Amino acid sequence: MTNSVSSADLTVSLRDDASALAEQITDLRHRLHQEPEIGLELPRTQQKVLEALDGLGLEISTGTDTTSVTAVLRGTANTGGATGQTVLLRGDMDALPVQEKSGVSYASRIDGAMHACGHDLHTAMLVGAAQLLAARRDQLTGDVLFMFQPGEEGFDGASVMLREGVLDAAGRRPTAAYGLHVMSSMADGGSFLSRPGATMSSSDGLVVTVHGAGGHGSAPFAAKDPVPVAAEIVSALQAMVTRQFDVFDPVVLTVGVLRAGTKRNVVPETAHLEATIRSFSPAAKERLKSAIPQLIESIAAAHGLWASVEYIEEYPLTVTDAVETSFAQSTVRELFGEDRHQQMTHPLAGSEDFSRVLQEVPGAFLFLSAVPEGTDYRQSPYNHSPYAVFDDAVLPDGAATYARLALDRLNLAASN
Ligand SMILES: [Zn+2]
Repeated sequence: MTNSVSSADLTVSLRDDASALAEQITDLRHRLHQEPEIGLELPRTQQKVLEALDGLGLEISTGTDTTSVTAVLRGTANTGGATGQTVLLRGDMDALPVQEKSGVSYASRIDGAMHACGHDLHTAMLVGAAQLLAARRDQLTGDVLFMFQPGEEGFDGASVMLREGVLDAAGRRPTAAYGLHVMSSMADGGSFLSRPGATMSSSDGLVVTVHGAGGHGSAPFAAKDPVPVAAEIVSALQAMVTRQFDVFDPVVLTVGVLRAGTKRNVVPETAHLEATIRSFSPAAKERLKSAIPQLIESIAAAHGLWASVEYIEEYPLTVTDAVETSFAQSTVRELFGEDRHQQMTHPLAGSEDFSRVLQEVPGAFLFLSAVPEGTDYRQSPYNHSPYAVFDDAVLPDGAATYARLALDRLNLAASN
């Protein structure tokens, strides 16, 4: 590790340089925000990132199966014979199909698309970190791998980038991986939050069709009505969660789609429902995969109907490494003071495909509250809301954090 004097100097210089970049990365963030793109194909976003990284002396490659950007910064510090290692920093870049109502001056100009999860900030922060680190190339005892990722919002862009070979882009696998996520609620603006171990839930999907037999609404006995069966399934799923699963290993199940029928005096042929399922342990997930189809098929059969059940495994549990998380927490405290980091008491029921990276490389995931100053975080709209506002003020801190994580982690690796 760096000694305490140079560590304090590094804190001052990183914070100063990040502040000096504020205007530039805020401008980038606003341009990304005004032109949000959804999914795996983000050509205009990719173009903006490539322009912003131009001239920094990075080895840049773009995705073959998605509009990802992978950049490698080679450190030049004399490592005294130690073999240099690689640290991965990840920022996701995609937006959501949400109609923006936030009222900010740089609001989305694309109808039906909004950076409602703050990924525009992640992209700008990671560009800022690349600038801070490129200027400190001679202090880097290894390489930094920047992962600019599309398609986090349900498109599993991390898996696509893993298939594209992101982990091998620097020539050797990363020693550690760090991700960061801004929040429009959850804590006072500027607070960092993290925890070791399970940090975000795993996410699965459920698609069910109850197959009946259509008929006249006045003569349901001559039909097989799927509507009450679907209603019973919705209720039974909630009872299953509370009766079959340990309250200390929780499950969240929300039926977000329920559809049947065309006219009130017609018994429909089918009823359709879809749910999202969040769980916090591999054991709970395994049990859900068998318990849910059994429950639904049995209810349908009890009424003389049948149901097709599709259980779709989406994102795995996000599990951070205890040592890397403790390192990331001390990095935040070193940079911004003791009171800027809070240990999370429990995981979030949101899900993240950074979990895919953390299955391959030990790492940490930090939340950073971007609640605007003077706003009560308890009242402010959550991520994904059309009203969500993420404060530009956190951009330099996010960039400095990414940069410091890479600098210190490579030094740590070189000293071991
Ligand atoms: Zn997000």
